[in-house]
Amino acid sequence: MATVPITFRLQACTSSRAARFMCKAARHGHGPACVAAVSALLEDRPWLLQTPDSRLTTIKHSQNDCSFTVIRDDLLHPFASGNKIRKLDGLWIDLIRNKHVTDVITCGGLQSAHLLAVAALAAEYGVRAHLLVRGNRPEVLTGNHLFAKMFASSTVYVDRCDYSDREEMFNNYISSVFGPGALEDGSGYDIAVLPEGAAEVPALYGLIRLVKWLATKLKVASNTEGFKHQRSRIIVDSGTGTTAIGLAVGVALLDLPWKIIGVTLAAPQEYYNLQKDKLVKEFCSKENIDMGILDTVNESLCWVERNQPRKFGKVLSNEISACQEIASQHGILLDPIWTLSSWEKAAVESQELKENVFMLHTGGALGLCGLAQRYPTEF
Ligand SMILES: *Cc1c(COP(=O)(O)O)cnc(C)c1O
Repeated sequence: MATVPITFRLQACTSSRAARFMCKAARHGHGPACVAAVSALLEDRPWLLQTPDSRLTTIKHSQNDCSFTVIRDDLLHPFASGNKIRKLDGLWIDLIRNKHVTDVITCGGLQSAHLLAVAALAAEYGVRAHLLVRGNRPEVLTGNHLFAKMFASSTVYVDRCDYSDREEMFNNYISSVFGPGALEDGSGYDIAVLPEGAAEVPALYGLIRLVKWLATKLKVASNTEGFKHQRSRIIVDSGTGTTAIGLAVGVALLDLPWKIIGVTLAAPQEYYNLQKDKLVKEFCSKENIDMGILDTVNESLCWVERNQPRKFGKVLSNEISACQEIASQHGILLDPIWTLSSWEKAAVESQELKENVFMLHTGGALGLCGLAQRYPTEF
């Protein structure tokens, strides 16, 4: 634990009224300067979501009076749900309105919620979505993929080998559809390539905005002296880790005594640490923030394995029935690949710890349709 005061500088680059704020933040003794600096970072940014609000649902344990709270981001949009819309919150409008993009190209797996979110928003905002889907076209389309295909302007299936080199795949697609040189200025095209899972710095702003909203909601920001101690942890299931990293950056900027627990589902721990270092460093240089913030991120962000680790995508017996039980008891849809893992952690931690435990519901219930195809008798 760092005991010396950390100092970092924030500059809201996107704001014409950008002012420099100095923020001297002793651990947990943070002044209003932090809040002002984060507000400056977020203000004047065009947002996709009108407000950062989410519904909060409390889940009580039946045996004792412990509870945890689910942040219902799964309810934010019918097709761009959960963390997908949070990651697009701070980048989408900038792309469409300020950069005048007309064609958005992205990639993902067959049941990718990111592909559906991009396709649905593109259709809503009158731009074309081009989806590069890993693998072969299935005989019957369902779930995220069925709806993504309905909204997209173009959907192509890329064999796994070609898909492994993303850059080459994107370049080949762009030259075949738009002609060579289409990405260059003056080509007449305004094309944006979004990385898989929107794992990039502009995706962090929406998560920082969510943390600020939650901190205000918890009334920890209600006194002008700054944030009071109120230990909390937010548990989130992680693929690329971008969502957890965005939350941790928000926690570090506001110097909250919160922990972000990323449940690592898709890769080993080293991958997540590299992602964190890369995104935080890029974010700091973009926003002119002292790299010292990385230490604070490291203190608040913790990667953990799910209760029963396994190869990504594998479903264990009883997990589908566990999701069914939770759905019928609480009215919340989970899936065994992603959100069941963070629910399980939240359930355990809320019984063991005397602090607020939150589960960020990252959405993705349509993925159940894909699972019903794979495991028809389990439902
Ligand atoms: C995309 C997705 C994730 C992974 O989010 P990252 O930001 O890549 O870690 C987790 N859960 C669900 C339900 C998702 O759709």
